[in-house]
Amino acid sequence: MPTAFRFVLTIILGAALAATAAAQPSILVVRGATLIDGNGGAPVDDATVVIEGDRIAAIGGVDLPVPDGARVIDGRGRFVVPGLMDMHVHLRGGGSRRDGGAVTTEQERTGIRGLHSYLYAGVTTIYDAGNRSAFIFQLRRKERGGEIVAPRIFATGGTVASPNGHGGPYLVEAWPRDRATLDEHIATGPDILKIGQDEHGWMMRPLINQLPVDLLERIIRHYHEQGIRSTIHVSTERTAWDAIYAGVDTLAHPIIQAPVSDAYIEMMAVRRIPTVSTLTIGQAASRLVEHPEHLDQALYRDTVEPEEIARLRTEQRAREQENGRTSWMRTMTPIAQENLRRLHAVGKDIVVCGTDQFSGPAVHRELELLVEGGIPPADAIVIATRNAARFLGRLDDMGTIEAGKLADLVILDADPTIDVDNLKRIASVIKGGRVVDRSALDLPVNR
Ligand SMILES: [Zn+2]
Repeated sequence: MPTAFRFVLTIILGAALAATAAAQPSILVVRGATLIDGNGGAPVDDATVVIEGDRIAAIGGVDLPVPDGARVIDGRGRFVVPGLMDMHVHLRGGGSRRDGGAVTTEQERTGIRGLHSYLYAGVTTIYDAGNRSAFIFQLRRKERGGEIVAPRIFATGGTVASPNGHGGPYLVEAWPRDRATLDEHIATGPDILKIGQDEHGWMMRPLINQLPVDLLERIIRHYHEQGIRSTIHVSTERTAWDAIYAGVDTLAHPIIQAPVSDAYIEMMAVRRIPTVSTLTIGQAASRLVEHPEHLDQALYRDTVEPEEIARLRTEQRAREQENGRTSWMRTMTPIAQENLRRLHAVGKDIVVCGTDQFSGPAVHRELELLVEGGIPPADAIVIATRNAARFLGRLDDMGTIEAGKLADLVILDADPTIDVDNLKRIASVIKGGRVVDRSALDLPVNR
């Protein structure tokens, strides 16, 4: 057979095989586990979850028939939860947000290791709330194209702020003059607009600028006109009120600077604006100073590079001991915890899990801090799954274990509704209908 002809024939046969594979998606069945579907209801024993291709096809009891050719995972004695989601991440490794030029191999490797730490920890979706565009959008493209193993990535790229304000590099001061700056950002393909807005004198900082409310409204509306949701960095009640009435969809942080008023809680009971918890970032410094032994936990040892653990224990710990911010955040964390507990008490769909950190173990820490603040473990699971999907505006597609949704789930060896720590007892992670090979991830545990 002439080589050229054989080549063409190979392509035709290959295409035919690919078409057959597409017509008959692989089928995965999890059988006999206790199902915790992410909606907050009572766990269901002896459940069967049927996954076809990347979606959940059916859910039933032990009598639900297993389709022919299915791969069956024995879930007896185990617990199934939706894949966890972190809705405030700044993935490390990308360099400065203002860096131009190509992403280096080293930068990409650092980013992928961070992404692998999430998957390893049962986190199947992240939202990066501000990063170097070239870095995060390259990783997002490769994840969506199936070129890298990673959680689903939603990202903002550069953030929008007032000149001399909180964030950037997209700085807006006058309308309509600075609309072109926003269009430059929109052209990069953000999933969500992130605005930085903060008080004068926040912590140890000198005075900074804020976007005036009318400009804030213009900005949010400009993104809405193109179908893009918005979130905002705020830390005080007043900036939160202003942002909500300027039309913002979600808050990237809780109120941390003071206890919230009763009026704020009443307003949120009506508006139910998704509010990302971000307790971990503030509490991390005093935890490192007072409890460096947390770094001995298996999840940290498995996923954090040994040199990084050594750096945290020595250099970073010494720096945090000296830092005025450490004790300030130690004081303010219980206030933020109580503000979140009160929000959750008036609307089970408001609080959203997010860490403002860069690796998988932080998500488990965030859930511990929410539970420590008075939220039941079963609700913490909803906060890290269904409420996160609501934050993204993707509740139709993800966040719970229901027929038709993306098949992102975690199988656990122990019941997470009685102890949130049991979310770390991971037997397997499934993303998009495929079992993640945790032993193949680029992490210390596998070296
Ligand atoms: Zn952040």
